[in-house]
This record gives sequence, structure tokens and C-alpha cells, in this order.
Amino acid sequence: MKVVYHEKYKEVYSGDPAARAGRIESIYDELYGQFEFVEPVPSNEGDLRLVHTQSHIDSIKRRKLYGNALLAVGGAIKASDLAMEGEPAFGLIRPPGHHASPSSCWGFCFFNNVAISVEKLRKDGKVWRAFIVDIDLHYGDGTASVFASKPEVSYYHMPGGTREEQLEKPSNHLSGERGYEILALSAGFDRHEKDWGGILKTRDYEEIGKMIRDCAERECEGRRYAVLEGGYNHSVLGKNVKALLRGME
Ligand SMILES: [Zn+2]
Repeated sequence: MKVVYHEKYKEVYSGDPAARAGRIESIYDELYGQFEFVEPVPSNEGDLRLVHTQSHIDSIKRRKLYGNALLAVGGAIKASDLAMEGEPAFGLIRPPGHHASPSSCWGFCFFNNVAISVEKLRKDGKVWRAFIVDIDLHYGDGTASVFASKPEVSYYHMPGGTREEQLEKPSNHLSGERGYEILALSAGFDRHEKDWGGILKTRDYEEIGKMIRDCAERECEGRRYAVLEGGYNHSVLGKNVKALLRGME
């Protein structure tokens, strides 16, 4: 399991909770020394165009955080490349991406990191069918809209409900999904009992990670990667990420 990380992810690029000071550090401190870290390079406009309209790209380009957003996309691409090489990976990236649609964005997102990384693998002929699982508290409307007319890529958002339901339903759904060549995880941690969702326990993330690993091993020769989406309580975020990676590795 490798962690894709860049010092610039620590930069506070806006006033939203995903960009808050100390958030990336809270994860870095838990993971550093436990996993091998690798550095990504920024993405480019050509990659963005795989998913986004030119007018959306131009609207973000006018903002100071454009460089941060390009580096987040680059981190997702790096994680997906590692997964293709047989190395599970986690993109410790921000800004997040799953609320970014082709021509709009909201919810602290600008470009859809996971969607672009999947589309790049597909464009390069490395995979055709992909499965994206999203465990963030919030529905990834951006990711869903990117792939609405592309049946080769399935998007599944973990449903709400009790803690037991939240763990059981994905397990059933994931075991029924077939035929994909890579499994990508939008890893949000805001369902945690001490985060906005107030439900999941830290050890549940390890269970989810194992679920992802088992499905990838059964279906796509183990090719799997995750990228950071939400998760806002710095006192538990790092531990939750580490639990997920321990399960996924
Ligand atoms: Zn969220």
C-alpha cells in the first residue's frame, strides 16, 4: 500500500472545511512511517477535459486554487497508475472531487479527481470497465453525473441507515457487481461517530477496506485505489484513514 502525497496538499487554499489548516497533517502524522509515500505531479488541462467542459475549466483557472486542484487530480492519477501496476494506493489529496460535475461544482470540490483518473485509464486503453465505490457521507453527484451515460463505469454510493445497515448493504452490493477491471474508492470519512454523520466507528473503516480488497482480488486481480474526499474532525481523521488502509492493503 503506497500513499500518494505532496507537501502542497497542506496549503490552505480556501476557507472551506476541506481546506482547513491541520487537516492533511492529521492524516500525514498517522500514516508517515507506516506506509511508503510517493509524490505525484500536477495534472494538465488535457486530463481535465476527459471529464470537464472548457467553460468549467476556465472558471476554475481564474482562481488561485487552480494549481492545488491540478495537483489533487495528479494525485488521483498517480494512485490509479500504482493500482494498475499491482500496488494498492491511497491518494492523500485535496481539494476533494466527488461533487464536481462536467460543467459545475460545489461542496468544496473543483475537479472530479476520481472520475478523471478512471477516464484517463480508459482513454489510455488500460481498462474499459471500472467500478467506483463512494463511502463519503454525501452522495457523489458529480461522479454519478460524469458516468450517467457511460454504462462501462458503475458508481455506487454507500447507503445511509443504521451502522449495521451501512456496513451490510455495501457488502451485498459489492459482491454482486461483476466484470470491472479496476476498483476505485472515493474515501470520505465524514460518517464517523465523531464527524458530521455520527455513525461509523474507526474499526468499521478497516472492515470497509477489507471489503474493497476482497472484491478487487476476486474480480480484477486486486487492482484497487482510494482517494480522499470528506472527513472533517482532525482528532479522528488520521486514525480512520489508517484503519481503511490497513484493511485495504
Ligand atoms: Zn462528505
